[in-house]
Amino acid sequence: MPGTVPTREIYWNISGIIWMYILFLIVVIIFGWRFYQRYKLWKLGKPDARLDRIGLRLKLVFQYALGQGRVIKKKYPGLMHLLIYTGFIILTIGTILIFVEVDFTRPIFSWTFLKSTFYLYYSLILDIFGILAIGGLLLAIYRRVVMRPANLKSKKDDIVVITLFLIILLTGYVIEGLRIGVTQPAWAAWSPLGLLFSEIFSGLGMTAETMQHLHVYTWWFHLLIAFAFLAYMPYSKLFHIFTTPMNIFFQSLGAKGVLSKMELEEAENFGASEINHFSWKELMDLDACTECGRCSDVCPATTTEKPLSPMKVILDLQKYMGEVGPGFLKNKGNGGSEQKTRKMVGEAVLDEELWGCTTCRACQQACPVYIEHIPKIIDMRRHLVLEESRFPTEVTTTFKNMETNGNPWGISAEDREKWSEGLTVPKMREMNKEVDYLFWVGCAGAYDARSQKVARAIVQILNAAGVNYAILGKEETCNGDAARRIGNEYLFQILAEQNVETLNRYKFKKILTMCPHCYNTIGHEYAQFGGQYQVVHHSELLQELIKNGKIKLPKQISRTVTYHDSCYLGRHNDIYEAPREVLKSLPGLKLKEMPRHRENGFCCGAGGGRMWMEEHHPKVNHNRIEEAAELKPDVVSTACPFCSTMLSDAINETKRQESLKSEDIALLVLEAMES
Ligand code: SF4
Ligand code: SF4
Repeated sequence: MPGTVPTREIYWNISGIIWMYILFLIVVIIFGWRFYQRYKLWKLGKPDARLDRIGLRLKLVFQYALGQGRVIKKKYPGLMHLLIYTGFIILTIGTILIFVEVDFTRPIFSWTFLKSTFYLYYSLILDIFGILAIGGLLLAIYRRVVMRPANLKSKKDDIVVITLFLIILLTGYVIEGLRIGVTQPAWAAWSPLGLLFSEIFSGLGMTAETMQHLHVYTWWFHLLIAFAFLAYMPYSKLFHIFTTPMNIFFQSLGAKGVLSKMELEEAENFGASEINHFSWKELMDLDACTECGRCSDVCPATTTEKPLSPMKVILDLQKYMGEVGPGFLKNKGNGGSEQKTRKMVGEAVLDEELWGCTTCRACQQACPVYIEHIPKIIDMRRHLVLEESRFPTEVTTTFKNMETNGNPWGISAEDREKWSEGLTVPKMREMNKEVDYLFWVGCAGAYDARSQKVARAIVQILNAAGVNYAILGKEETCNGDAARRIGNEYLFQILAEQNVETLNRYKFKKILTMCPHCYNTIGHEYAQFGGQYQVVHHSELLQELIKNGKIKLPKQISRTVTYHDSCYLGRHNDIYEAPREVLKSLPGLKLKEMPRHRENGFCCGAGGGRMWMEEHHPKVNHNRIEEAAELKPDVVSTACPFCSTMLSDAINETKRQESLKSEDIALLVLEAMES
């Protein structure tokens, strides 16, 4: 059994120790200086209150930073990162324990805690985690050199950090082997790799004296590399080791699909054209990026070869912050023009990158460090639309239509009720009592021929189930989702205020929507304008009506169906189960899942106002329909009018109309109700 552990005793001298601590102090100063510089850059951002619900925030840090909750979701990189991360943590703790004992508790208090059984396990654990970390680094090298995933860019920084860490680990084992060779301890077997190195050195004919000398030099080399690694960390991508827990702690805890409200009356600038127009959290995000590429792997724009890569946007903004930040700091946040070499929007980040975003949230869902991409993209779009009037030309008509007719198609507001002709559909203006559901039909349900069928199916189901409801009809106007997400906050606010005023005139328990965009905007964003409503999506109500036996489903739907998750129903609002439960309850229907489903669902390409913009090939909706077609279903079911349109278009454009249809779940339910 080991007694006192001879670590540095075999070469101990006081001047060496003093030098070691002087060097350590220098490293701490270099590290601290860099950290302070970045902190000052984050502070250039606007205020953003992120200190509510501290308990939950700490829990999330444990779950997703320490527990690597999202990192391990991807098998290969997850395992690789887990091995490196746990190795790093355990070896750091082990090293700190040695320093505490050898330089403090032993000389000051004559107290030794690295001894007996504890030391045996300590030694074994360090050996094992060192080996695991080396394994993780080898996986990282293999991935970068051989596998080379499309969105993983290898830079000099990656070579430096992998090499330094590998040298630290290997020299650690060399030191251990030399120490075992010199001291021949009885516990050597508890450090198996150290023992192996020791046997190699003995096999090479090294004497104890040679090993002792070598130990001193290797130890100093190991120490200097470790210090260099530590000092380099905040200048490299490894800075994320420190920013990740902070970023996870300060993440947004509000509803996922909400965009911030711009105070148009008081705003000094509209949107973000400079780094200090972002919030401090948005700037901290930039320094948290691990460059893992997961956001770009799942981005529909990147996948379909559009100019947008969410990782690139984050890294370009990070670089830009480094370029102009010092100028801002020099001028106390009043402008970085002296240092400025280029514009943030249009040069550091290109217009076409910003217009490629469908706001599908796949990037944010995949990001292991909870970077919030969408608010930054929308802030820069706001600048383009409101300050520069620079946006895709086809959107001009969309804005005009929303403004003058209250819908993006530009059809007369007077025609908003036409879809319901021939059906019994109560109107709110005719009701003199509270209704259970105000059915918000939305522009698509009111004007788009395909979606009109869904609106008609819904009212037929509601009538059959005896639901107490009414619609706004002509009093309804566009909810403004597309205007806000394209960046026209001014137009959005006009529409939102108008709708809130209308809604607040009536008495209803809940709002029913057939569109996830209406669901998200009315349910989460209208609160910013005094409209607090409980909103239900038609998939949820259908599920409830079926469960409670309010609607009977006698007819067999003998078809194979796959369900396409709408981004605004799924990733933005976590409604995955209700539409699936509805489909599963239809007799004879066979439900098949696409590989990308639920939170990994692939966008249809319409969100973020993209519905109203031109798209070049290859198209997002084509990519999605190819995936669906692999399953050979009869129907791709949806619960969103925009998804339905995009998928139907893709079916037609890829000439699949004979074998495949896109249908809303409400149409399938109505069909099953027919006897
Ligand atoms: S929200 Fe979707 S489209 Fe936009 S950057 Fe993220 S993944 Fe890409
Ligand atoms: S933004 Fe997030 S997901 Fe994208 S590369 Fe950076 S850390 Fe990875």
